[in-house]
Amino acid sequence: MNVKIQNNFKSSSAEDLKFIDVIVSKQLKAVIKKFSLKINRQKMFWICPECNQKLQHVEKDEVRDLVPPYVFENCDKYNQCPLCGKIYWMGTHPRNALRFIQMHIPSHLP
Ligand SMILES: [Zn+2]
Repeated sequence: MNVKIQNNFKSSSAEDLKFIDVIVSKQLKAVIKKFSLKINRQKMFWICPECNQKLQHVEKDEVRDLVPPYVFENCDKYNQCPLCGKIYWMGTHPRNALRFIQMHIPSHLP
């Protein structure tokens, strides 16, 4: 199951972002509890959020022209969605998502 939690805030002041974190963490906890979900670190970031397809490993040389140069220079592992072709790597978004989980719902991480 792939669940997207969203908010409707337009502001991004530091205070608003802390408030949004609290709301999102409460929503996340409610979803985890409602569906008795277990977070599996090994399976985090392995599904395309657009297509819900399992990502497939792709060699670095194959993505040279598909990712920004900075990403190509600094990342060695890539995955690709077999349906939409989108390329994924361990950039700031997954690292921030993991940090958010560790900060707000650490008891749900194995
Ligand atoms: Zn996809």
